[in-house]
Amino acid sequence: DKTLNGKVALVTGGSRGIGAATAVRLAREGADVALTYVNGKEAAEDVVRAVEALGRRAVALRADSADAAEAAGAVGAAADALGGLDVLVNNAGIGVLGPLEDLSLADVDRVLAVNVRGVFLTSQAAAGRMGAGGRIITVGSCMVQRVPGPGGTLYALSKSALVGLTKGLARDLGPRGITASLVHPGPIDTDMNPADGPYAAGQAALTALGRFGTGDEVASMVAYLAGATYVTGAEYAVDGGHAA
Ligand code: NDP
Repeated sequence: DKTLNGKVALVTGGSRGIGAATAVRLAREGADVALTYVNGKEAAEDVVRAVEALGRRAVALRADSADAAEAAGAVGAAADALGGLDVLVNNAGIGVLGPLEDLSLADVDRVLAVNVRGVFLTSQAAAGRMGAGGRIITVGSCMVQRVPGPGGTLYALSKSALVGLTKGLARDLGPRGITASLVHPGPIDTDMNPADGPYAAGQAALTALGRFGTGDEVASMVAYLAGATYVTGAEYAVDGGHAA
């Protein structure tokens, strides 16, 4: 039997990249999947079709994590569409990297709204809809463990907040049999960080394996954590040895 048969998952930012790979991977393990997007309606619909091709139900929801009502509201919409919620994957995130002096107040507010506030609000709403066996899996970054050079202050700040979130959720929700975990991807080949981009070679060189990872390599860890029963409050690197 597949590990996630009969489960419902919500993946934020599931239209492209790591989120899209995760949505398909969870469906392969038996889950029905809701995913959110902001601009990528057609890409989201492609992911819905990929999930349906695996014999699972899927729904794409337009929900901007930067908007408080939409970040929380995606949970109810997903649960209503698919009949409950068992797994939340907080994947939606943005990277605004660059010289410290160039980061504007708007950059600070936007990054914190998507990467931190939205994650909190979606998790809080999900906790309200989950029963025992619920899973909250959040996508952090290898830059929580090591900021390898200049330009990452704001992004690393935002992703580091997810460590406290995950530990706190583990304690808040453990008594209800709900777990919380944090996955730290290294350089992963996506639109956000293409393996043929100007900074790619330097990033690959920082890993022990000397290469970028794929969305599916991150998704396999998310799928493991979605099925794991005695893992909570902890961080998992899927970073090719970036932190080694
Ligand atoms: P991409 O930029 O390739 O894809 C981002 C996805 O998130 C898209 O589906 C996008 O939707 C969605 N999204 C963006 N902003 C919002 C928002 N405000 N509300 C809801 N959805 C949103 O990113 P990756 O797949 O590379 O990254 C996924 C996660 O992994 C992020 O949290 C990122 O910080 C993290 N990460 C990535 C690494 C990498 O090297 N790629 C390394 C470490 C961490 P739409 O199509 O509508 O724009």
